Amino acid sequence: MAQYTPMIQQYLAIKKDYPDTFLFFRLGDFYELFFDDAILASRELEITLTGREGGGSERIPMCGVPHHAADGYIAELLKKGHKVAVCEQVEDPKEAKGVVRREVTRVITPGTMMEGKWLTDKENNYMAALAQVEGRTGVAACDMSTGEMYVTSLVGQAEAFLDEALQYRPKELVFFGLAVLPKTALPSTVVDANQLDAFAVDSQYAEQAKGLDMSMRAAVNTLLFYIGTTQKRSLAHMRLLKQYDAKQYLQMDGFSRRNLELTETIRDKTKKGSLLWLLDRTQTAMGGRLLRRWIERPLLSRDQLEARLSAVEALKGDMLLRSDLRTCLDRVYDLERLAGRISYGNANARDLIQLRMSLEAVPELKQYMIQTNTPVLMELAQGMDECTDIVNYLAHALVDDPPISVREGGMIRTGYDEYLDKLHTASREGKTWIAQLEQGEREATGIRSLKVGFNKVFGYYIEISKSNIHNVPAGRYERKQTLANAERYITPELKEREALILEAEEKMIELEYQLFVTVRSEVAKHIPRLQNLAERIASVDVLQAFATVSDERGFIRPELVESGDYVITEGRHPVVEAVLEREKYVANDVEMDQTNRQVLLITGPNMAGKSTYMRQIALITVMAQIGCFVPAKQAKLAIVDQIFTRIGAADDLVGGHSTFMVEMLETRHALQKATAKSLILLDEIGRGTSTYDGMALAQAVIEYICQKIGAKTLFSTHYHELTGLAETLSGVVNVNARCEEREGKLLFLHKIEEGRADKSYGIHVAELAEMPTWVIERARSILTGLEANGNAGNGNVASDVQMSLETLWTAPVAAVREETMQFTSAEEEAIMAELRELDLNSTTPMDAMMKLYAWKQQL
Ligand code: ADP
Repeated sequence: MAQYTPMIQQYLAIKKDYPDTFLFFRLGDFYELFFDDAILASRELEITLTGREGGGSERIPMCGVPHHAADGYIAELLKKGHKVAVCEQVEDPKEAKGVVRREVTRVITPGTMMEGKWLTDKENNYMAALAQVEGRTGVAACDMSTGEMYVTSLVGQAEAFLDEALQYRPKELVFFGLAVLPKTALPSTVVDANQLDAFAVDSQYAEQAKGLDMSMRAAVNTLLFYIGTTQKRSLAHMRLLKQYDAKQYLQMDGFSRRNLELTETIRDKTKKGSLLWLLDRTQTAMGGRLLRRWIERPLLSRDQLEARLSAVEALKGDMLLRSDLRTCLDRVYDLERLAGRISYGNANARDLIQLRMSLEAVPELKQYMIQTNTPVLMELAQGMDECTDIVNYLAHALVDDPPISVREGGMIRTGYDEYLDKLHTASREGKTWIAQLEQGEREATGIRSLKVGFNKVFGYYIEISKSNIHNVPAGRYERKQTLANAERYITPELKEREALILEAEEKMIELEYQLFVTVRSEVAKHIPRLQNLAERIASVDVLQAFATVSDERGFIRPELVESGDYVITEGRHPVVEAVLEREKYVANDVEMDQTNRQVLLITGPNMAGKSTYMRQIALITVMAQIGCFVPAKQAKLAIVDQIFTRIGAADDLVGGHSTFMVEMLETRHALQKATAKSLILLDEIGRGTSTYDGMALAQAVIEYICQKIGAKTLFSTHYHELTGLAETLSGVVNVNARCEEREGKLLFLHKIEEGRADKSYGIHVAELAEMPTWVIERARSILTGLEANGNAGNGNVASDVQMSLETLWTAPVAAVREETMQFTSAEEEAIMAELRELDLNSTTPMDAMMKLYAWKQQL
């Protein structure tokens, strides 16, 4: 290291503590990056990589960004999941002896972004911690920009607690005490025991920390420790600790959430096209974020749901009131993030004005809420603190339209501070004197074009055009500057006044800044009040959003029943319905109960609407259990405790599992966890293996669900043979997605009706595709043979898997398969034999080409 220049040595010493972080090293007006940081950053940011001499044998790779443009580059790196340490010069270079002292002033990570420009309004920016202590795993998540912190504790498998943490869609993870670190693509940090001081939850949570077990304490502390080390300051607004039990919510695993497209679509991972997108008629950013949280955590408590539904009903019924309420909410800014910035100390005067304006909307908002006469809304309103003291204080202290900068003055209102007012008067009087000077001097000299001006270099001056200079009485002014066609003069008196004005202004700016900071810290004392208010406003906002969308889209209030019945009349898929333009969505009924109609077996060709039907049912359940109205004519719904889905192609081919293995893992997960109150949606289980294997598995799964679990299940299948189960297994009912042939075309009616599908649809479709008649006829005869043997659609499969499997293996279809197999393999065998014998050393490329051509012809 000794060979490097002192500055590079300093760099390396600092960089040592931030190994996995881009170090932005302040050098004059630039932040520079060196060595590997520079190479990687130049690639990530598409900026030029240069080099500099640093005393070593080779030039040091370097790249840099101007300090005033650094935010954009930092945001870019954060978006890509990197961390950035900002290293500033902490002494004046002019006073430095040797290398200027530098220190990392803060570390910005994807999970600790505070600045508005890096955040999405209607999205929380969470980071999560997992901490394992004494066999339990604490999961904590916090959003530094809003001050929320949630914590829960789980026992069990790694999947479960990682799933819990991932529900927050954190930007970053921190781990403590985990024996095995879960695999994730998120930026992660491990905190060790020496760093956490015996899980003493920081005093800021003293009140709320009582009910926390060791794992929760550890999780909260892990987060606080991490925030402390990156931010290097305490965060007074992080006071809202909420402990919860994951079991108090409807549970869905990560796969099901994604699959149902609750908050983003599977294809392009955007909000547009998701349930959240459809329901988001919120007016405020905090309402938008709360809506997302509600969708991610549907409720189980009937009382809570009825309360929400009643509020939605009241707001839906009164369009005028709702529109007034919406207009009023529109005046409310993001109180949570304002509160965050105020306590963090980076709020400007405009932020405080936004706070005042938001608070000013509250009394009116409360009025509207009380007018609905609904318990939830009235309770929410009654708990709303109008914060009149803060409004008055801010109105007294700050002008209505302050500048963005807090270092230019112009923020504090007259009458707030006596000394500031005096300085204002002094400056104003000075300016008046100067204005009068212009008039006086014109009269004294008789030069009508004489004027008094100001510039930053020379201050105030008297300007006289060249043509009038001869009229200036000798000795009256002192010449200061000569321009092309004018002369500029000063007088001692003018300079004296100028000094007074400038001094007053300098003092004013400094004083205004001091006063502003005091105002800001004064408001910061009331953060918990603001946070409480924000939470209430967010709730009303979501409820009115539900009412608005329910009114516009004709949703109805679901009836939540205890009987276990689940009946939907003319239900629709809310999102598909919304995006279908000309075509109208075909509404469908569902009828399920605990005994006779527990499993619906759905048959029908591809594209007939089976999976849309299943998703529609899951979405209606989610909507009902967040307290929203549902797209149907009528809905009597049992409250569901968990939803499991296995729909569509697996998009999670992780860890080298085959599609089939993933499918089996997902199904196992459902079978392990589901209860009689759960909803299971399985789409074509068993497709990934041989027909009989798959069919046998599918049947066994249905039997298990029916006999051992009792969960309501929708099971779509193309194994027609399974429809026989309806006759042998009580609780299983056949429904099918109806299709018709019209003018030689297969028409999908998207109508789900009772009974099994016409099994010859496959052959029918083949016929429409103009397959050779021979094939069609042969297929028909094979099918007839199968039916005669009792292997298709008559219930034999259901009686005993083992037995029916034996029958299936000996059925004619097996013979046909053998035959066909042999036919193709004979061809292949001949080619293989040739290939084996081929001597490559004596084969020219041309010969090889010819051989390949010939083989291809044979196949
Ligand atoms: P399957 O699962 O049977 O292969 P899908 O559920 O994927 O079929 O539906 C196929 C297409 O039909 C979808 O693109 C969807 O837009 C449309 N569709 C499905 N159900 C309906 C319906 N009830 N009304 C109108 N269009 C529908």
